[in-house]
Amino acid sequence: MLGLMQDWPLLVHTILDHASQWHGTREIVSRRVEGDIARMTYRDLDHRARALASAAQGRLGLKLGDVVCTMSWNGYRHMETWYGIMGLGCIVHTLNPRLFADQLVYVINHGEGKWVFLDLTFVPVLEAVQDKLPKVKGFVVMIDGEHMPQTSLKNVVTYEELIGQGDTAFAWPGFDENTACGMCYTSGTTGNPKGVVYSHRSNVLHALVSSGGDALCMASKDVWMPVVPMFHANAWSLAFSVPLSGAKMVMPGPRMDGEAIYELLDTEKVTATAAVPTVWLMLLQYLEQNPDLKLPHLEKVVIGGSACPEAMMKAFEDKYDTRVIHAWGMTEMSPLGSLGTRKGGLEHLSDDEWWKVKLKQGRPAYSVEMKITDDEGKDLPHDGKVFGRLKVRGPAIAKSYAKGDGADAFDAEGWFDTGDVATLDEYGYMQITDRSKDVIKSGGEWISSIDLENAAVGCPGVAEAAAIGMPHPKWDERPLLVIVKKKGAEVTKDAVLQHLEGKIAKWWMPDDVAFVDEIPHTATGKISKLTLREQFKDYVLPTAQ
Ligand code: AMP
Repeated sequence: MLGLMQDWPLLVHTILDHASQWHGTREIVSRRVEGDIARMTYRDLDHRARALASAAQGRLGLKLGDVVCTMSWNGYRHMETWYGIMGLGCIVHTLNPRLFADQLVYVINHGEGKWVFLDLTFVPVLEAVQDKLPKVKGFVVMIDGEHMPQTSLKNVVTYEELIGQGDTAFAWPGFDENTACGMCYTSGTTGNPKGVVYSHRSNVLHALVSSGGDALCMASKDVWMPVVPMFHANAWSLAFSVPLSGAKMVMPGPRMDGEAIYELLDTEKVTATAAVPTVWLMLLQYLEQNPDLKLPHLEKVVIGGSACPEAMMKAFEDKYDTRVIHAWGMTEMSPLGSLGTRKGGLEHLSDDEWWKVKLKQGRPAYSVEMKITDDEGKDLPHDGKVFGRLKVRGPAIAKSYAKGDGADAFDAEGWFDTGDVATLDEYGYMQITDRSKDVIKSGGEWISSIDLENAAVGCPGVAEAAAIGMPHPKWDERPLLVIVKKKGAEVTKDAVLQHLEGKIAKWWMPDDVAFVDEIPHTATGKISKLTLREQFKDYVLPTAQ
């Protein structure tokens, strides 16, 4: 017998319908590429998204299933494009502007993008590659006529003119909830990037799950600032979960430096925000340089994408009275997989005990099945010590990549091998030890490069640290710690090693410390171990000579 409930397809435009109807006057505040701050409401956004959809259907000739690329910062125009294009049954492929030209050309062509919507900032980027994009019909520059630049882009349209031709009461066509609506390529440390394709259903389910009380705990009274870019990992679902909750939204646009982020946190009274550690490093440094500044409105900050160092969590919690939620996820997981909120039943943990758990990458929310296995696929115990391959399964997790690439990451039972190595403890909290490619293999045992980095970042004067395995005749690999000093700080190798003593196992102690001006990062802000290993390919550890 089937249930007798209504068939209400989970389409992402229903989120904006709800926000517009029941939170219609809540604001979306955006820093624009024009340099000013723009204000509008969910009702305005809904009207403009519908106008865009109708004009895009008419003038751009978009049809169900067409792919539209965006290269844009976080702002209301990017939100309108997401909702408008997805509402038509088309697919928004978010392009990361930090990709190298070759990768950019690859992902646009592989994803079969028909139009590219871009911010003013990125006109030169697309001018440079447009001749290599045979399937792209034209470009929409997300700006008004007054600011429209002279450009060699072919078949170019001005965004505000396009919207001006549309119908603000356009009716969404409706289609199956499993229809594709978003596409995002993973940065992939080896080989070509791989395309993850979200559906309307997976995005709506993920927004519901991630806004929940034990996840991001969202409410309409909140003011959320998604600093994590909409071009990175589905913007951690925030472009869906925030409107779904009816919270006010603050969008930082092109400026993510400490001063600009602080200004918005302060003037817009932001209560919650989310980004990768590098962004928070910049904010904390700015606050350190301006000791009178505080964060009186900010209640919580979600940190993920890379491991949150203890020093960062401490600074937010102790100095600024802001709660940190450490989260882990992947583009393939829509992307949130686990969050470090405190579970009921853990009240007995002392502050110190809870602190240790809180530093981990969190526990899975409903809809994420999670396990660790050995290389043969045998389940490993949840004792917080044994580490193995982290595997996940669920309705907002990829079941394959675009065009069948990377099929070996998915097994017959539907488990996706994340490529991360992790422990799971008795309370269900997961801790990432490493990317499987980055663990340092010393004498048959594994050293966690993440643990070394986190411990090193706590050393006074250290701004950023990266640990990599270097060849060693006896141990196979031994750790080299690469460090960037804070501006004007004096740090020595001995000081760093002394700082690590007692914080890590003795045999994990790096064999050497190298100081550099800059550590290379990937397009999504993670330390690029691949590039770093390349930079140090001729280096020989003193213990290996
Ligand atoms: P992306 O798909 O670009 O978001 O990258 C996903 C990868 O980032 C994961 O597989 C992890 O290796 C890493 N990652 C994400 N969040 C964390 C975290 N909180 N701690 C450590 N690594 C993380």
